[in-house]
Amino acid sequence: MTDPDFQRYDRAGLALDPIHVGDGGNRLGRVDNTIVRDPVTQLPKIPGSSYAGVARAYTAMAYEAQRDSQRRTTPYYPGCAGQGQPTQGRGHCGNPACPVCTVFGFASPSGGGFAGLAAFSDLHLLLHPVASREGPVWVTAPSALEQLNLAFDPLDKQTAYTDLTHHPLNLGWLMLPTRPLPEELGGSGLQSRLADLAIPEYIRSRIVVISERLFQHVVNSTLEVRTSVAIEPATGAADDGALFTYEALPRGSVLGCTVTCRNPAHFRVGGEEVEAVTSPEKVFEAVKESDDYLENLGLGGMITRGMGRLRVLKAYRGSDQAQGERK
Ligand SMILES: [Zn+2]
Repeated sequence: MTDPDFQRYDRAGLALDPIHVGDGGNRLGRVDNTIVRDPVTQLPKIPGSSYAGVARAYTAMAYEAQRDSQRRTTPYYPGCAGQGQPTQGRGHCGNPACPVCTVFGFASPSGGGFAGLAAFSDLHLLLHPVASREGPVWVTAPSALEQLNLAFDPLDKQTAYTDLTHHPLNLGWLMLPTRPLPEELGGSGLQSRLADLAIPEYIRSRIVVISERLFQHVVNSTLEVRTSVAIEPATGAADDGALFTYEALPRGSVLGCTVTCRNPAHFRVGGEEVEAVTSPEKVFEAVKESDDYLENLGLGGMITRGMGRLRVLKAYRGSDQAQGERK
């Protein structure tokens, strides 16, 4: 266990604004610009590739801000930040001492390249905020709990399991009978998992577990839908008939993902040892350089319209813990 191949880190993010990561297409229905959904569950998600892309750019910005121009003359930003098109000498540097290119990978104009030491899973919805008569609650379901290594199959598919209230839960358009959280989720199970991920107490104390089917319905009925107007660049006026709607994950959504950090000691970059990072922990530290930027600059579309900021909460080391507690 001294020299692992990789280390997994489970992370959670809290949406400080609505977040719109578009699927690039339009669906038939009420909204013009829809967000990415998981094809199986139909639940919104943020693709790992979107997270990896912004994390790369923000990490490059962070290292550029700390760069000692004596030791390294090539800027990290923008060259190492983007997708590596070598236009105007601005491709990835591909240097074994570059924490951006080694951690996020690089494209080489001569072919080859490197896949990168960090791999990002999709960000899945863990907890979804909904208004209720009891105030805001965060709903979750078996598939989300599974990401926390918690198994739960609700017996009654039309019941809300919560310790918040004994009364039926009124979500406005939906009234659900309640039952206390079952034993397998009570006590330390669910709460300690959420605490591991540094989910704030005001959220942890207002959890409601519902069936998968009901979760899909509740989430897709309570996404943020905004209306905007496209502006004609030539006149600066609103385009005729250019009113459009777009959906977003609401503020307060909690998303979870896993970042897998490979051991740099097991890789060669251009025939040389990786110099920039020396352990899976160091790989993860490079990824974390992007966190402050993500919280302030955001990800996805419409970030100039006050959307996209994501606060990355504390991570815990996934694989150790998961193996220790799994049956
Ligand atoms: Zn580089």
